[in-house]
Amino acid sequence: MNIECPKCKSKEFTKLSLLYATGFSDIETRSRGWGILFGSGADLAFGKFRTKGEVQTRLSQNVAPPRKWSYRKIVFGGLLGLLILDFILGYVDTFLRTGGNVNQQFAWFGYGYLGMVAFILFLAFRYNFTVFPRRYRVWNRSFMCRSCGHIAQLSLPIDPSGQALVRAASR
Ligand SMILES: [Zn+2]
Repeated sequence: MNIECPKCKSKEFTKLSLLYATGFSDIETRSRGWGILFGSGADLAFGKFRTKGEVQTRLSQNVAPPRKWSYRKIVFGGLLGLLILDFILGYVDTFLRTGGNVNQQFAWFGYGYLGMVAFILFLAFRYNFTVFPRRYRVWNRSFMCRSCGHIAQLSLPIDPSGQALVRAASR
C-alpha cells in the first residue's frame, strides 16, 4: 500500500470502513497503541492524534457511510403531517363555520400535499438507486490520513509503478 497524503505527505492511512466498524469508543478510550491488521497484513499502530476532540469531530463528520433515504420515515412523516394538517383545517373549518365550498378547497389542498409526499418518495427512490451506490463506493475506498485526518480516495486500478493515485475526497 503506497498512498501519500496530499496534505502532509504521511503514508499512513486507515480505511474509513475500518474506522467506522471499530467505532468511536475504541478510539476514545485507547488513544495510543491501537494496532490494527490492514490490507497486506502489515501491522499498523494508531499514531497519536493532536487532540482527541478534533479527531472525534472529524470522525463523526467523515467516517460514517452514506445512508439511504428511509421510505418509512417519509411515509410516517407524511402521515403525521397529514394528521396535523387535517386537525388544523378541521379546526379552521369549525371555527369559521364555512361549509361545503371551502371544504372542496381543503380537499385540493390535501391532494396537493399527498402529491408532494409522493414526489419526495420519488426523489428518495431515485437517490437510493443512483446517487447512493456511487457515494457508497466512494466511501468504501476512502482512507483517512492518520497524521492529519485528511480523507483521500484510492483510485483504482493502481498503476503499474505500484503508486496508488490519491485525490481529495469529493463530498
Ligand atoms: Zn495527512
